[in-house]
Parts: sequence; structure tokens; C-alpha cells
Amino acid sequence: MRGQPDDGTVAAAGAAKAAGATGGGPGTGAADGDGTRVVRAGLPPEEPYAPPLPGPVFAAHYHLPGDPHGAPYAYGRDANPTWTALERAIGELEAPGQEVHTLAFASGMGAISAVLLSQLAPGDVAVLPADGYNLLVPVRERLTGLGVEVRTAPTAGDAQRELLDGARLLWIESPSNPGLDVCDIRRLTAEAHARGALVAVDNTLATPLGQRPLALGADFAVASGTKALTGHGDVLLGYVVCRDPERAAQVRGWRKTVGAIPGPMEAWLAHRSLATLELRTRQQAAGALAVAEALRARPEVTGVRHPGLPEDPAHPVAVRQMRRFGCVVSCTLPDRAFAERFLAALRLVDDATSFGGVRTTAERRGRWGGDAVPEGFVRISVGIEDPADLVADVGRALDAAAGG
Ligand SMILES: *Cc1c(COP(=O)(O)O)cnc(C)c1O
Repeated sequence: MRGQPDDGTVAAAGAAKAAGATGGGPGTGAADGDGTRVVRAGLPPEEPYAPPLPGPVFAAHYHLPGDPHGAPYAYGRDANPTWTALERAIGELEAPGQEVHTLAFASGMGAISAVLLSQLAPGDVAVLPADGYNLLVPVRERLTGLGVEVRTAPTAGDAQRELLDGARLLWIESPSNPGLDVCDIRRLTAEAHARGALVAVDNTLATPLGQRPLALGADFAVASGTKALTGHGDVLLGYVVCRDPERAAQVRGWRKTVGAIPGPMEAWLAHRSLATLELRTRQQAAGALAVAEALRARPEVTGVRHPGLPEDPAHPVAVRQMRRFGCVVSCTLPDRAFAERFLAALRLVDDATSFGGVRTTAERRGRWGGDAVPEGFVRISVGIEDPADLVADVGRALDAAAGG
């Protein structure tokens, strides 16, 4: 597996640089800044007259003479050069300078279920967040049906640590979506490892520039690339990054068996989007903080949450493990009708689900019925517009909603 072009292995940055040097390639070092690393992440060594980022490779099969064992590319469900480049890029961002294995998936759920279902067997105990992404609920039910004992506790206050005895796997989502609670990943991971449990962290909200689960001790960083990673609202994607080659092979085997693979076009669009990840997340974080502060100043708005707000209950832990605080802000408006009037009155903010895109979106989460949130709870995903314009729009819409 290792060393084959399809295994998404990221060589240590030094080695990448060396490879780059011999090939005249564009490798960056782990010490380079985020903005420098994203524009070169995963690019192949420079070659005269070749494009810096090769276009998508559309192939169901590849020319395959003779013995197929060890062939880097044989069939399209197993490997694709466009995924390989994207996987290298994501691995470089999630674990700079480390040798890791990265696998791209068709969606975040494809990646999440690949880890859970490839690592858990009947009789195992899994500890999941009670307040994680809403599709964890059906996944939980499926695991239970397969004979896995599932225990759940809230993300806040590191409550999952009470449930770790006998666990095989701890699943962390921090910050949680949509509640924006944060747990101490280092502490929970150390306690889980002391009991022999594996740890996976859903890193969707933070992005690899905001948080590095593997550096905090986790075995797997897992995420939906549909959100802030790709950021344009035009691609579904997921990924898994892990250090251990055997676990990577199990996840790879799962991907191949269920066929939860990204299309080459999606993988290429995702890779192309990574070049602006630093610009996007920086602007989003600035806008999110400005919007959160503006919401906090309004008496009719309660429960404003954003991990970057100094007075947020998640802030003390967030500053210790996050490098950026993300684009999501949540708050509670007086009731459902108020929230609906607010959303309708916004001029620059689309009423839409998902988050992490370049355009600001907001939605009343209660409309889905899946999250344990008040009827007036609104999740806002701050885009890359000018923060002052967003603050003005939110203020205007609150006035309009209050006016009835
Ligand atoms: C959206 C999301 C997912 C699922 O990702 P898809 O790409 O939609 O399958 C998983 N976890 C979190 C935290 C998410 O926000």
C-alpha cells in the first residue's frame, strides 16, 4: 500500500521539498504560513509545460498490462490520480510535516460511516456525542442494530469522558454542529487512549487550518469537505486522515466495498478551492466575530454562541486547541415567527442550510426537527462579504422582525 501513488500518503514536508527540489517541484515546508501552504498543497512536482494543477482524470479503468498487483491505478473505484493529488493536499494541511494517509470520499457522511463501520464490530462500545451532526442519529441506530453498544454524552464539559470504560472508539465533534460547544480534545484523547480506545474527531467546522486533531492526539481526523473546506457550495466531499497504515487500509477497503468515492470533477474542484482556504477562513472568522458581537449587543437576541467570542463558554478551551474559530454563529430569537421574519428581512443572507460558503447563509434549525434547539434558534454561516455590510444587514433585519 505505502508509497503507491494512490495511498494519499504525505511524505514529511522535508521529503516533499526534496522531491520537489529534484523534480523542480512546488513543495512547501511545514514551517510555511497557512496562506503559503494552501496555494501549493498537493501539487505535483513541477514539469515543463505541464499545468500546476492537472485537470480531472475521467477514467473508469486504466491500461493495465500483465500482473495487476502493485499497479497504482487499475480500476476507478479504487484510485484516481485526481483524488491522489487532493488527498496529498488535505494530508499536508491536516498534519503538516507528518506522514499520514488520506482518503477522499463522496461526502462527509461517506467518510464518517467508513470510519465507524470499518473500525467497530459487534460487541464493541462506541462513545458518540449526543449533540453531533444530526445524521449521527441514524448512524447510531444502525450501529446498535449491528450489535455495537452506543453511549452518548454532550460535547460540553467533556461529558464523554464519563463513558469511556470499555470503549473501543470515541467520536468527538468539536466545535459541535449546530450547538457550537467545544470539548478538550487533548484531554479526552489521552483518557480514551489510556483505556485502549481509538479517537476520531469530526473537523468539519474548524477546517484543517482551524484545528489539527492528529496533533492533538486523535487517531482519525474526519470531515465533510462540503462546507468550509471547499467553500463554494457546489461540491459534496468528505475525507479521512490517519497516521496508522493498517487503519488506513481498513478505511480504504471500506471505501472500495461500498463505493463511496468522489467523482474526479468534484475532487478537482475541491483541490482548486483549497488555494483560497486561508483567505476565505480568515475573512469568514473576522465576519463571524463582528456578527456575533453585533448580535450580543441586541437585547432581543439571547444565547449568542461563537467560539471566538471572548465571553463564550467554549472560548477558554477553544483558544487552547483551535487556530481559527470558524464561520458559524448561532443565537436564539424570541420565537419561531420572529426568527422567520428576521430571515425573510435579510438582504445579504440566503435562507439555506449547510455552512462554510463564500456567501452568508442562515437558517432556523428547528425547521428540520432533528436538533434539540429552541424554535427561535438560528444558525448563521458567515461568508466572505465585507463584515460591516453584514452587521448592518443583520441589524436592519432584527429591526424589521421586531416591528412585526
Ligand atoms: C455537513 C456535516 C457532515 C456531513 O457531511 P456531508 O458532506 O453533508 O455528507 C458531517 N459532520 C458535520 C459536522 C457536518 O456539518
